[in-house]
Amino acid sequence: MPKVLLLHTGGTLGMRPRQPDQALAPDEFGPTLLSLVPELQEIADVEARVLCNLDSCDITPSHWSVFAETIADEVDSYDGIVLTHGTDAMAYTASALSYVLRDLHRPVILTGSQRPLAEPRSDARGNLVGAVELATRDIPEVGIYFDGVLLRGNRATKQSSFRLAAYHSPNLTPLAEVGTDVVVNDHVHRPQGTFRLEGQFDRNVACVRLLPGQSAGSLAGLRGSGTRALLVEAFGVGNLPVRDHAVANALAELVSDGVLVAIGSQVQHGRVDLGHYAGGRLARDVGAVGIEDMTLEAATVKLMYLLGTFPDVADVKTRLNVPIAGEMTVGA
Ligand code: ASP
Repeated sequence: MPKVLLLHTGGTLGMRPRQPDQALAPDEFGPTLLSLVPELQEIADVEARVLCNLDSCDITPSHWSVFAETIADEVDSYDGIVLTHGTDAMAYTASALSYVLRDLHRPVILTGSQRPLAEPRSDARGNLVGAVELATRDIPEVGIYFDGVLLRGNRATKQSSFRLAAYHSPNLTPLAEVGTDVVVNDHVHRPQGTFRLEGQFDRNVACVRLLPGQSAGSLAGLRGSGTRALLVEAFGVGNLPVRDHAVANALAELVSDGVLVAIGSQVQHGRVDLGHYAGGRLARDVGAVGIEDMTLEAATVKLMYLLGTFPDVADVKTRLNVPIAGEMTVGA
């Protein structure tokens, strides 16, 4: 029988029915899980442990480090790990784990649910069954499993707070699908070296979405704030306004202060190309770097990871476009 460690961190899945702010007590979680989803024990010998019980909006980089350390300590004793987590910020945690769990050799599958485990019409049970099944397979990646689909964790983004398919992956096809059968696709990553835990996170990363005609005040306000990297959600393939240079000038000032300015897009599907339009070239000319086809979650967490791990900002800027764990498409 394969062995799976299930680490619970919080979210709707572990809430009391019809009480979205009332989490099951830590000693209730494991027994509730195994009594409501007894079939888990037919798939694997599942050991459940509560790491914390938080709404995912309260999960911080310090929690990511604790989750990663726990996984690194335990991973050799199990065939795979399932991490149950709130859906709101799950893609950030998945990205973070994918960067620090280097050359992972076992599956680490994050899942959660849109409705609590103990509610009659809950998606938690199906998600848990699928996640535990996938944790027994040869998928050495950090993934997010929801509604029959396993996505690479650092490619996933929350797409719905209503549909049971809470997550999608705009720029990469699923790693695996669970239907009448389990199909694992062949772009699953393989470790290239020995598994190790590597790196820290720096929280001084900000993100600003551009609006048409927006004043540059919100960008200028970041000067002297301690922000070390800024991700700008620009338009289309990474465009800034070109008739009015206020935004570009504000970014140039941040760059001259030593802030790393990265350009993302408000569009989820496709990639940033700063060479394509004048607005992108302007961003590049002031010293910004595009995030290619990374999700906002993958790019912001990568900035936190790189700034926390490498001392030199110029080096971090170069490394932003070097893949760590399949978070971006190379050579597209
Ligand atoms: N607010 C919850 C959380 O992210 C939502 C959920 O789990 O679906 O923790």
